[in-house]
Amino acid sequence: MILPEPVQNMINAFARLPGIGPKTASRLAFFLLNAPADLAGDLAQALTELKTGTVDCPICFNITAAGREQCEICASGERDPGVVCVVEEALDVLALERTGGYQGRYHVLRGALSPIEGIGPEDLTISQLVGRVRAGGVREIILATNPSMEGDATAMYIQQQLAGLDVRVTRLARGLPIGGDLEYADQSTLLRALMGRQEMG
Ligand SMILES: [Zn+2]
Repeated sequence: MILPEPVQNMINAFARLPGIGPKTASRLAFFLLNAPADLAGDLAQALTELKTGTVDCPICFNITAAGREQCEICASGERDPGVVCVVEEALDVLALERTGGYQGRYHVLRGALSPIEGIGPEDLTISQLVGRVRAGGVREIILATNPSMEGDATAMYIQQQLAGLDVRVTRLARGLPIGGDLEYADQSTLLRALMGRQEMG
């Protein structure tokens, strides 16, 4: 069957999303084709605004609404600026916020070191993190990168970069599913790992 180009384009676009194979992509495209017009319209608008309506916070690189000078957490007077939790992705901030047990601030690396994928320190926001510590006022850096090979390597690298600076460097306690992402850990496990964090040495 030869599909009209707009349908094929939609299928191709869906198939580029993570976890969506060609069959699911086709099913979603045909669902939208038959759905009321406002659903497609709402979806199109949400997709556009997802990009145009957001920016990275210039301090912590968490995602924030366009037009804000910094994200809500960096701007909040209730969050301790002396404690900075370093995570790989903005989704990890969400996971840690859901635990309700963290009152410090964050730093989003935007990935992890991976020689295989060609991701080096300059691709991440590590120098900006070191800059934040050098600027003063940070007592503790909590390295909350994923419990994976890349996450561990990234934590070690950052610890080396911070050596000699007047800051305590800790790592989340073991107990998180090895190789898994922080965002998949349940809230109590994550909270336990945070509370049980240990000095890196
Ligand atoms: Zn921020």
